[in-house]
Formats: sequence, structure tokens, C-alpha cells
Amino acid sequence: MTDHFDILIAGAGLSGASSALAMAKAGYTVGLIDQGSFASGASGSGMALVSPMMSRKGRPVWRVREALDTLGIADTGLLRPASTPEQAAYFEQSTHMSPDLGIWLNGAEALEQFPYVVAPHGLVHVLRGYSVDLASLTRSWIDEAIQFGAEAREYVGIASWEEHGDHVAALLTTGETIRAGRLLLATGPELVDHPRTSLLNLHPIKGQRIRVRKPESWTYSILPLSGAGFILDDGDCLSIGATFEHEWTAEGPTPEGRRELIAQAAKMVPEVQDMEVVDHSAAIRVTVPGTRMPMIGPLPDSTRTWVFTGLGSKGILMAGLLGMKIPDFFNDLEAVPASCRVAIRKAID
Ligand SMILES: Cc1cc2nc3c(=O)[nH]c(=O)nc-3n(C[C@H](O)[C@H](O)[C@H](O)COP(=O)(O)OP(=O)(O)OC[C@H]3O[C@@H](n4cnc5c(N)ncnc54)[C@H](O)[C@@H]3O)c2cc1C
Repeated sequence: MTDHFDILIAGAGLSGASSALAMAKAGYTVGLIDQGSFASGASGSGMALVSPMMSRKGRPVWRVREALDTLGIADTGLLRPASTPEQAAYFEQSTHMSPDLGIWLNGAEALEQFPYVVAPHGLVHVLRGYSVDLASLTRSWIDEAIQFGAEAREYVGIASWEEHGDHVAALLTTGETIRAGRLLLATGPELVDHPRTSLLNLHPIKGQRIRVRKPESWTYSILPLSGAGFILDDGDCLSIGATFEHEWTAEGPTPEGRRELIAQAAKMVPEVQDMEVVDHSAAIRVTVPGTRMPMIGPLPDSTRTWVFTGLGSKGILMAGLLGMKIPDFFNDLEAVPASCRVAIRKAID
């Protein structure tokens, strides 16, 4: 690998890959490294949902139209069943406020059009949105960044870094030193524990998912389903996610997680209870407590070392929206949305 770049990006998940692509496209020299294989963190965790109406009331996600347009992936649509009459009222209102995003169907209409999902209170047929394989999407961004001249390397991590007047010197786990005009840390959960970033206002949330085999009688595919969790068509399987665990003793999958996922999914598709579980995995996504917005910008007391993290459960939308704008942010710090600026934890934590 070359020993100097305009920007060195550590972490090749959605955050690092989107940033690498944007920087390479903008003409900068880019180095991208990952201590594991590309997309080996949360961004490798399987099929994922992109929904513009994710909140409890089904209100549009922050700047969602811009994010969807930037991502440019074809919308297949998805279904968002209401779990109570109260939620149904909110959902119906949301579709009236954003008719471009979704159509409201009452219980009878839902049953007629989408008999595979239980939705007695009705559902939103979300028109924009889709499901996509996280690792494939991340790798496609890395491949494109390479086509634009980026150098990308797996199984090499950043061990430490030192800021100098006109560059950052990054010491890699291989013993090499790379000089870069800027260093972008997109290292996911490692930021929470790393002594130089552990004061950032970040919170890790463990998520588990399972894949269940569709029975032979299921010869059809289903639209992505978004309820308390999600159910996504995954070839001859369904991908079911995800738990939100704020504390854990074991990082891997657990029997409790599996039970929770099946119970959650069975509210939308009861047959999942009888399907064979063929895969069970866990990963950790990082969130910003309080704002639930991503975090992007230079570390405190630094100009050259930046972080991009906190994508939470809207990783694809937020990487599409913010990662692709990294060159603008580097040129003008004020362009970083105020709600996404770097913040440290309050002393009480
Ligand atoms: C179960 C589950 C389901 C999800 N479902 C969805 C969904 O449906 N829709 C959606 O939009 N989002 C979803 N998400 C969230 C999404 O996966 C995350 O927001 C996103 O992947 C985070 O990307 P990241 O690049 O910030 O972090 P990560 O993907 O964790 O990437 C960090 C990378 O940094 C590397 N790294 C760590 N330390 C170093 C180091 N020292 N040097 C070099 N590299 C290092 C790691 O190996 C890793 O590859 C889900 C998450 C989980 C866990």
C-alpha cells in the first residue's frame, strides 16, 4: 500500500465504504483499511431493510427522500402493519402527510392484497424502500471506490495515530506508518472502547438475527415486512431481525435472542414459529444516545482526525446521506448538520 494519502479511512463498513467512495469520486487519494475482512462488523450482518417510515408513528426519517435519491436503489416497497388501533391512526395520518412515501390500507384491504401478513388494524404499503444485502452493498461501494483509484486493504488495522502540523501519521498493525492529510475513524464499536475515543457520546446496541427456511408450500416471495422487527425475503429463507440489547454478557447469539425474534416475527407471520432456523448471528451497531443521529466530525482538539459513526439501525440511509457528503464536510465544517456534530459524554456518565 502507498504510504501517503489525502485521507486514510480505518474501518470498511457502511460508514468507511461510503466515505471512501465519495472521497475517491471527488478526486482525493484514498486508503481504506479494515482489521478484518471488508464488511466484517455490523455491515456484514445479512439482509437489511431500508424504510422511510421507521418511527413508532411512521413519520418520515430525517432527510429520507434525499437519502433514497442518493442511494439510487430501485424501490420494491414494503409493508408496515399497525400493531394497535392507536398506531393505525398515526400511520394513516402519516400517509396523508407523505402520500409519496406510503398508502394506507385498512384491515380488510390489507388482507385482500397481502394475505401473508397479519394486519387486522391495517398497514402502510410503503412505496419507497426495499431490502438489500448489507455486505454486498458495502462491498459494491468499496469496488466502486477502487475503480475511482482508492487503495483498499483487508486484515490490517490502525493501531495508533499521531497528529503533526500538516498530516496524521497512522501506525498500522503491520508496523507500517501511513501519512495522511486526514484520518477518518469508521471503526464502529471499537470507538466505544478505544481510550482515545471512549469519551464520545456513543452507545453500543447488540442486535441478533436468524434465518429460517421457507416451507415448500411457500412458492412465493413476500414484500419486506417492518414491525417490531423485520422479516425479509432471502431466497429459500426468511431473514428475521433484529433485537435491541443495551446490555449483554455474551457478544454472540443467545437462545433468548432467538426466542424474542421468533415471537416478534410471529405477530406478522405466525408460520415462522414452525420454520427451521438455519442461521443465527449477532453484531453490534453504535448509536448516539439522546439524538439517535449519526456522529461525524473531527475529534475534540483535533482537525485532522475525524470520526463517522452512530448510524444505528438506519445504517444504509445514513451512510448514503452523510458518507457521500464527506468531501463537502472536510472542506466546510459548518456543512455538517448541527444534530450530527461530535459530542462527548456528560460527566455524570
Ligand atoms: C442485527 C442488525 C440488523 C441491522 N439491520 C439494519 C437494517 O435493516 N437496515 C439498516 O439500515 N441498518 C441495519 N443495521 C445497522 C447497520 O448494520 C449499521 O448501522 C452499520 O452497519 C454500521 O456501519 P459502520 O461502518 O459504522 O460499522 P461496522 O459495520 O461495524 O464497521 C466497522 C468496521 O471497522 C473495522 N475495524 C474495527 N476496528 C478497526 C481498526 N482498529 N482498524 C481498522 N478497522 C477496524 C471492523 O472490522 C468493521 O469492519 C443492523 C445492525 C444489526 C446489528
